[in-house]
Amino acid sequence: MARWAVCDRERLARYEQPERGAPGHAPFALLPQAEDDVGAILRLATAQRVPLVISAGRTGLVEAQRPEGEAVLSLEKLDRPLAFRLADGRNFELGQGGGDSASALYGWWQAQGAPDLSGAHLIVQAGIPVDAVNALLEPLAMMWPLEMGSSSAATAGACVANASAGANAVCYGTAAHLCECAWGFWADGGVAGPCAGPRWRAPAPQALAIDSTRIDSELGLIGSQGLFGVITRLELRLQPRPAARESVLIPLPDMPAAVRLLAAARGVFGGDVEEFEFIGRAALELVMVHLGAAVTLPLPAGRLQPWSVLLQVKSQTDDGAELARRLYAFLSAYGIADDDIGYAPLPVLKRIRHSLTEASNLRLRALGGGRLAFDTAVPAERFGDYLAALSARLAAQHPDLDLIAFGHAGVGGAHLHLLGSRDRPLSVHAAALVGLVFDVTAEFGGTFSAEHGVGPKWAAEFRRRMPAERVQKLAAEKRRRDPVGILNPRSFGLST
Ligand SMILES: Cc1cc2nc3c(=O)[nH]c(=O)nc-3n(C[C@H](O)[C@H](O)[C@H](O)COP(=O)(O)OP(=O)(O)OC[C@H]3O[C@@H](n4cnc5c(N)ncnc54)[C@H](O)[C@@H]3O)c2cc1C
Repeated sequence: MARWAVCDRERLARYEQPERGAPGHAPFALLPQAEDDVGAILRLATAQRVPLVISAGRTGLVEAQRPEGEAVLSLEKLDRPLAFRLADGRNFELGQGGGDSASALYGWWQAQGAPDLSGAHLIVQAGIPVDAVNALLEPLAMMWPLEMGSSSAATAGACVANASAGANAVCYGTAAHLCECAWGFWADGGVAGPCAGPRWRAPAPQALAIDSTRIDSELGLIGSQGLFGVITRLELRLQPRPAARESVLIPLPDMPAAVRLLAAARGVFGGDVEEFEFIGRAALELVMVHLGAAVTLPLPAGRLQPWSVLLQVKSQTDDGAELARRLYAFLSAYGIADDDIGYAPLPVLKRIRHSLTEASNLRLRALGGGRLAFDTAVPAERFGDYLAALSARLAAQHPDLDLIAFGHAGVGGAHLHLLGSRDRPLSVHAAALVGLVFDVTAEFGGTFSAEHGVGPKWAAEFRRRMPAERVQKLAAEKRRRDPVGILNPRSFGLST
């Protein structure tokens, strides 16, 4: 393994540091330079029983990439776009001879007579960051529509492996649904794939739309969170960039009102509801303080309510003015007063939405009492009642805790940050708080991990809360693909 290994402590440090939390420790990191190297490494690791954690953009939030004595298998060198394929089979090989791949691709497309791009796919290595994929597609007015605050570093392979869900999952599904096909290696080094991605269908309101505690082994490497093997190559399903997008911020008294608003918006805009995000009042106030003079809240302070939603619609045929007219006509017919429509250019509203985590980080440092971060989901029709019940239970039992709540209301997903203070550090009642949040989530038919995965962070909860039959089925599939348990061995707690 020596030819792939990084051993010097200074270079190793970056692979030991996860996005959140304390650094881990690794004896060495392995940096395969080619896809087949991954297979060779896994075969050797299996033969020599060397445990590995997979690391890509290192933005994961469930500690899966943090080594605790395992070696790190980094995919950062496998970051090349490989080919662009039209639905009729015409294919353009990327990255040949260096140069600007986006311009070369655009030039090729023009030379083909600028054909229709519906059903086009992009084939990439797994370690390419999401933003790099989209930079390549921009001249074609196409996109791989995974909108996450981490997209500059988070990789396409990891997103497909984790079935990550962007802010626009309500429209496009998770990264698993945006993947036509994945290839790679099982943990024992055997060749894996082609693994076919599922198709997205807007789920019924009574169904759980996203649930990363549930791995479908039929999908092979897709959505398996690095338990069964490593994705090295992907064929991505692309979408056209909308010709127009409009977004508004709407204050609401409660989340059941948000659920009703979404249903009405869907009735008018159908599949063109591109995003439906919610932000709790405390979170919104915090982010506005954090952004300071750079951004103005597009609502008078007196109009703020306990919750706000960001409703974004898109169109392929309307221009911006026509789409805005239709959006305002809908809101007015729905009975929302002009003063309650927070309008701002899309980048401003995006900045507010994507600064929430950073604002929470700053508040965490200021309060100094620690943070518990949850990523839960419930069926969309119960989402409003769920958040109301959870907020009430937390306020009654822990009135002195800060709750920062935001997330993907369109798919019933909530990011909940609980912050302690120096006087009331969270560590004192962390276990009770986790129990409370997850119990309420279960009462509403939800999942304690919506999109971030289980990893080692929630392994004990997975073992405790999932039916034994489900755990055993997953453990059996893990043994089949990873007979000596070398890959991400602490994730899901399957080896304990
Ligand atoms: C600010 C911020 C915002 C975020 N927003 C969102 C969001 O909106 N939605 C969301 O779902 N997540 C979000 N995340 C979480 C994170 O970006 C995703 O989980 C993403 O998939 C991680 O990608 P990565 O390349 O950084 O993976 P890493 O953190 O490097 O890896 C994490 C784990 O993913 C698995 N993995 C990675 N690559 C592969 C591969 N090629 N094959 C098999 N398994 C692999 C392994 O188990 C690995 O240990 C956010 C994170 C941050 C920091």
